[in-house]
Amino acid sequence: MTQIERAVKGEVTEETSRVARDEGPTPEVVRSRVASGQIVIPSNKNREAKVIGIGKGLRTKVNASIGTSTEIADTAMEIEKAKIAEAYGADTLMDLSVGGDIARIRKEVMNAVTIPVGTVPLYEAFAIAIEKYGAAINMPEELLFDVMERQCDEGVSFMAIHCGINRMTIERLRKQGYRYGGLVSKGGSYLTAWMLHNDRENPLYERFDRVVEILKKHDVVLSLGNGFRAGAIHDSTDRVQIQELIINCELAETGRRMGCQMMVEGPGHIPIDEIEANIILEKRMSGEAPFYMLGPITTDIAPGYDHVTAAIGASLSSAYGADFICYVTPSEHLGLPYPEDVKEGVITARIAAHIGDMVKNKDRDRDREMSKARRDLNWKQQFEIALTSERAHYIRNKRQSPSEEHCTMCGEFCASQILKGFFDKEMQDYGKK
Ligand code: SF4
Repeated sequence: MTQIERAVKGEVTEETSRVARDEGPTPEVVRSRVASGQIVIPSNKNREAKVIGIGKGLRTKVNASIGTSTEIADTAMEIEKAKIAEAYGADTLMDLSVGGDIARIRKEVMNAVTIPVGTVPLYEAFAIAIEKYGAAINMPEELLFDVMERQCDEGVSFMAIHCGINRMTIERLRKQGYRYGGLVSKGGSYLTAWMLHNDRENPLYERFDRVVEILKKHDVVLSLGNGFRAGAIHDSTDRVQIQELIINCELAETGRRMGCQMMVEGPGHIPIDEIEANIILEKRMSGEAPFYMLGPITTDIAPGYDHVTAAIGASLSSAYGADFICYVTPSEHLGLPYPEDVKEGVITARIAAHIGDMVKNKDRDRDREMSKARRDLNWKQQFEIALTSERAHYIRNKRQSPSEEHCTMCGEFCASQILKGFFDKEMQDYGKK
């Protein structure tokens, strides 16, 4: 039985208790939210991974996507990226490899980390089709399901699958005059090309029950992919994106009823004034299924700093109720991320998720502790509390301070030094010394 099936029966599983212990809600609250589909716990019976919950009332989780391309397929580098992602606080990892020996790379990546690993099985299926049948459009339908089964057997914990694209979505794309920025999802583009070339319905939509049955066997979370997400600010929240969202929300409900843990994926490129509306729609239409936001990137004109544009989008998304965010690295739109890009991406996304949680979950204790440590010029404690202690240490150590307590930012004009001792009594009375 899957986590959701057991929760529906009233069972508090080991995983449910673990999530409760780590995050604060009672085991019964976590159980009831798993049962209603508001929380998912990505796992796989075939691979022991760290237990995390994603969804209502829990800390916003961060995913780091790595993986080879057809141009750069270096297994050792992918393993290094995976380890860096985990070390800097990614909650999950997605291996999106499309180049080299994809199955072997995935296996090695899964062996290198303890966090849940996700995939987009469509990528491997299309890569095999290109190799074996000469082109992605020649992919036999059955290959899609075979790849899913194999990846489930190997221990993948969640899969992004583009079930929400169908003939109706493509028709809508035509009617609205295609898109200013085109389609930017690899899976979405390949699948659309396959459907148009073969004049067929999307097998992942048409045989959705089969997709669910495969994932259910190993209790793998089905993340309904956003194949028609906007890849340009100009296209955000257009009819075709909302069409796919509606279908994904319907499928989330169907999959949940069938006993599969479900998530829905969101944009994409989006201006900040449309983020809240997207989250309200997803939550309302899916029965509050966990919302997995890809970034979102909030301007198109900052290449090299898209980890920042996405962090702005991710913090707002999290504040408005998104549950899971996918990091973006500085190399987005420019090239395959290197290990240092992964590190930068994870740290930035973790900051964004926390900023959102300060609003969504009122998670502000650590910030309060930090302000006290700053007021008291307690540098050791500041580094302990910081989400970013490595860089904080580096910057402080680069400056020649005359004393341990001293700070070169304002020097003699240090506001904390000037008032030291003047308000001791008041602080004691306030209970915050
Ligand atoms: S010197 Fe300025 S920046 Fe540094 S601790 Fe004092 S007030 Fe803060």
